[in-house]
Amino acid sequence: MYSPKIKADYIPILYQIAQARGIPMTHIVREALDAYLNKAQIVAMPASNGGCMTCPHCKKEITSVYVYSTCHQTARISTDGKILELAQPELEETTDIACPQCLKSLKEVIHE
Ligand SMILES: [Zn+2]
Repeated sequence: MYSPKIKADYIPILYQIAQARGIPMTHIVREALDAYLNKAQIVAMPASNGGCMTCPHCKKEITSVYVYSTCHQTARISTDGKILELAQPELEETTDIACPQCLKSLKEVIHE
């Protein structure tokens, strides 16, 4: 299994975050990679792989959609019940898919 080296400058930062959040450094790295790769995947998707369709509501050509999902976040709290720090949100399920132009639902025509 390929295990890339982490830049030495990042170790103290990762260590501090891991200490503050009380989770292992490897989890922080995984969260960071997840966040990056999710974004990178969208950017890296070649145009030829994508398509465009006409929104049945506003009749505009769209190449992307808004995907609305529920998510949850873990929050660290203080003794007096204040939220001190929020972890990365974790996606649960898709609740709606909408046209980015008119914001009307495309759930009937777009499939995951
Ligand atoms: Zn539309």
